[in-house]
Amino acid sequence: MKGTRYVEVAVDLPLTSTFHYQVPQASRQQATVGKRVWVPFRNRQLLGMVVGRVKRPEVARVKPIGQVIDEEPVLDGELLDLTRWMAEVYQAGWGETIRTALPGPLRRGRFRMESRVEEAPVAVIPSAPHTLNTEQERALKPILQAIARQEHQTFLLHGVTASGKTEVYLQAIQDLISRGRSAIVLVPEISLTPQTIERFQSRFGREAVAVLHSGMLESQRLKEWHRIRSSEVRVVVGARSALFAPVRSLGLIVLDEEHEPSYKQADSPRYHAREVAIRRGELARAPVILGSATPSVESYYQAHRGYHLLELRERIEEVPLPEVQIVDMRREFGRGRRGKIFSRSLEEAIGNCLQQKEQAILFLNRRGFSTFVQCRSCGQVLKCSACQVSLNYHIATQSLVCHYCHASSQAPEICPHCQSEYVRFQGIGTQRVESELARIFPQARIARMDTDATRLRGSHARILNDFKEHKIDILVGTQMVAKGLDFPRVTLVGVISDTALHLADFRSAERTFNLLTQVAGRAGRGRLPGRVIVQTYTPHHYAIQAASRHDYQAFYAQEIAARRQLRLPPFSRLVQLTVRSLKESKAFSASQEIEQVCRQRLPSEVEILGPAPAMIHRIRRQYRWQLLLKGPSLDSLTGPLAAALRHCTVPRGCYLAVDVDPLS
Ligand code: ADP
Ligand code: ZN
Ligand code: ZN
Repeated sequence: MKGTRYVEVAVDLPLTSTFHYQVPQASRQQATVGKRVWVPFRNRQLLGMVVGRVKRPEVARVKPIGQVIDEEPVLDGELLDLTRWMAEVYQAGWGETIRTALPGPLRRGRFRMESRVEEAPVAVIPSAPHTLNTEQERALKPILQAIARQEHQTFLLHGVTASGKTEVYLQAIQDLISRGRSAIVLVPEISLTPQTIERFQSRFGREAVAVLHSGMLESQRLKEWHRIRSSEVRVVVGARSALFAPVRSLGLIVLDEEHEPSYKQADSPRYHAREVAIRRGELARAPVILGSATPSVESYYQAHRGYHLLELRERIEEVPLPEVQIVDMRREFGRGRRGKIFSRSLEEAIGNCLQQKEQAILFLNRRGFSTFVQCRSCGQVLKCSACQVSLNYHIATQSLVCHYCHASSQAPEICPHCQSEYVRFQGIGTQRVESELARIFPQARIARMDTDATRLRGSHARILNDFKEHKIDILVGTQMVAKGLDFPRVTLVGVISDTALHLADFRSAERTFNLLTQVAGRAGRGRLPGRVIVQTYTPHHYAIQAASRHDYQAFYAQEIAARRQLRLPPFSRLVQLTVRSLKESKAFSASQEIEQVCRQRLPSEVEILGPAPAMIHRIRRQYRWQLLLKGPSLDSLTGPLAAALRHCTVPRGCYLAVDVDPLS
C-alpha cells in the first residue's frame, strides 16, 4: 500500500470550500479520512480535517500538510457526511461544522485520538421494565419493527405529560441493545437532570450509559467520548451536541421534548437538532423518535405527511390531568389587589398546600428581582449602555444586570438623569416572587431555581434533591421548573404571568401553549390530585384556553389555520439574514446591498422582507439590521442564497449571520 498522496481538507474556518494538500511520504499511511491535521493556510498553521482522498489535485502547486494529529479517526464517514449536509443546509463552513461536532478538547490541536484497548463490559442489575399499557404497546410495536428491519422512519410520539413516553423509549432501547446496537437520546439541557440520567442508568447499568452535557468539564466530556467509541456504551444521553456522539452501530435516535427551542443552535452552524437527528437516522438507517406532550406545529403538520404519528392520550394508571383555573388579573386589579403578585386564589391555594404538607411549583419566565428600573420623577427607564434593553435589578447582589450582554453595575440610589431619590424597581422577576412568598408565608421553606441560582456546579442537582426529600415546600423558578420534573407530592402549580404571549414573534402563541401545558404537567403526577392556577391579563386567548383544557388539538387547529393564512412555517420556510456592525450606517447599507443582490438572484417565488432594524436593535454596542426571506421550500432558498451571497462582499467591520429556519 502506497497510502494517500493527496488529500482534501476542510479547514476550521467559516468557508464553504475545501482545499487540496499533498501528503509527505512519511505521513502517507497515517493521513486517512476523519483525522485532524495541521495545514499551512495563508501563512498560518490551521487545524483541518481530512475529508477525502484526491487522485489529482485541482491546482498545480499544492502545499504539503503538516503533522497528522490523530492515531485513530475522530469522525467516521457517516458523521462526515452529516456535517457536510449540515454545512450546506445551514450555510456554514464544513470545517466550522466539523468543529461543532467535536468535543471541546478535540476542537483544538492539543489532544489526540489514540487507539485504545477496549475495556470489558461490567455486568446490570437493571431496574425492571414496567408492563406496558395498551397505548404504550401500540406505540412501541411499529418502533420495534423499524428497529428490526434497520429502517429509517421518523415517529412522532405525542403523549400527554406522564403518559409513559420515557418508558416507551426505554423499552425500544432495550430491544435495540439485545441486538447489539446503540442509541442516542437527546433531551433539552435543562431537562438533563439527575432524575433523567438515573432512569437510563438504573435500567441499563452505569457502564452502558454515557452522558454528555455542557455543565461537564471538558476532560470529562472527552472521557465520555472515548467510552462511547469503545463498545461498552450502549446509550448516550445528552443535550443537543450528543447528536454527534461517535456511537458504534447506531440503531435509534430519540429526541425528547422535540418542541424545545433550545434544540436550535444560536451560533453558526445554526442547526436544529431535530432536522439533523432525522438526517443522521437516514444515514444510519435508524428510526428516529420525536417525543412531546406539545409537538411543535411543524412536526405535528408532518405527522400527517412524512412522519408516523403515535399517540398516548392517558396518563399512566389513568391519573387525571390537573384541573386548571385561569385567573383574570384585570379583575384582581379591580378588586383592590393592585400591585399584588399573587391573586387571591393563588395565595389561598398556596396556603392550603402548605397546610396539607404538600408541595408547590411557581413559574415565572423572568429572572432577577425587577424587570426594569424607572425614575418616578423624570420617568426615565435605566438602559444598558451597550444594548437597547432595560436593566434588571438583582437583589442578592444589589446590582443592575443586562440580560443580553451580562454587564452588571451597582444599583443607583438616586436617578442618574435627574438626581431624584424616586428610583423604583418595577416588573416582576423570580427573586421578587421569592421574597414576596417569604413575607406572606414566613414558615414556608422556599427555594428558587433559575440561571442565577444554579450558576454553581452541582447546585441544580442539590435544589432538586432537597425538593425531592421535601426539605423545600415551594420551588420558584423559570423554565427550569417547567419541564421534565416528576415529583409526586407536587399538588399545586402557579403561573405568575404569561409573559411569553406578548412577544413580537409568530411563535409566541405556540410558546405560551407549550409552556403552560408543560408547567401544568408538573402537578398531580402521583396519587394526590393536582391543581394549576394561571394568572393572565388575556384569559380568552386561544393558547391559554386550550392549555387550560389540555387540548392540543384545539390549539393546533387554530394555530395551523393562522399559519396557513399568513403563509408562515410549515407553509413556508424562512431564512433570516442579520447584519451587525458598530456603525449603524454601515450595517444598514450592507443590508441594503444584500437585499439588492437577493432581489436580482433569488427565484421570484421567494419573498424578501426588510431590511428592518432587529427587534433589539443594538446588542453589545452592535447595531443589527435584518432581512427575512420566505420561500415555498428550503430548496428555493438555500442553494440560490448561497450563490447570491457570493456576489456581494460584506464590508469590513460588518458581520453577516445567516439563520435557516430561525426560531425568533
Ligand atoms: P412521560 O415521559 O410521558 O412524562 P414517564 O415515562 O415518565 O412519562 O411515566 C410517568 C411515570 O409512570 C413514571 O414514574 C414511570 O416510571 C411510570 N410508568 C411508565 N409506564 C408505566 C407502566 N406501563 N406501568 C406503570 N408505571 C409506568
Ligand atoms: Zn429621574
Ligand atoms: Zn447589555
